[in-house]
Amino acid sequence: MIGKAIIFSAPSGAGKTTVVKHLLNVFPQLEFSISATSRKIRGSESNGKDYLYISAEEFRTKIENQEFLEWEEVYEDCYYGTLRSELKRIWQKNNIVVFDVDVKGGMNLKRIFGDNALAIFISPPSIEILEERLRTRSTDDEESIIRRVNKAGLEMHFSGHFDKVLLNNDLNETLKTAENWVKEFI
Ligand code: 5GP
Repeated sequence: MIGKAIIFSAPSGAGKTTVVKHLLNVFPQLEFSISATSRKIRGSESNGKDYLYISAEEFRTKIENQEFLEWEEVYEDCYYGTLRSELKRIWQKNNIVVFDVDVKGGMNLKRIFGDNALAIFISPPSIEILEERLRTRSTDDEESIIRRVNKAGLEMHFSGHFDKVLLNNDLNETLKTAENWVKEFI
């Protein structure tokens, strides 16, 4: 069984989570694909809602058991992956699955789903603004901020592989545009 999917990818700090959360509130037929990760739980996150937090060893076992549709070592020693069981769970309810994944993962998922997926790349106005946002978010330490900013520079080159590029300059405008695109797709 194959249903519809909406894929969101962006450099970390581009505002992707805000956009995804907004759309999930607006459209009841959208459902978030809860990824598994080996990174530590952060701030106000909760297990089984934002992610399924597992050890690196458990993650490797799931890779061996082919439980992932795709997975990436997004940062050194931090694994993230889309569970096949999540897709099944969401599509069984006839809902549309929403992915919040890194840029490589987004391109892989788009390749898998083709026209059944709408792939949106969220772009920050600039790398400098992205760095500023990561600092004000203050959920990451300095080392992690530097890693994320460096990675963002590389990721920006891949925006052309997505169906749509959403420039997040003014948040209200960004949310409206995202709503329109999703409405068209579903
Ligand atoms: P964060 O640590 O900020 O929650 O996530 C870091 C990056 O990993 C984000 O770009 C997020 O979208 C991405 N990510 C989360 N889950 C997955 C997943 O299942 N697969 C892939 N490839 N990336 C993911």
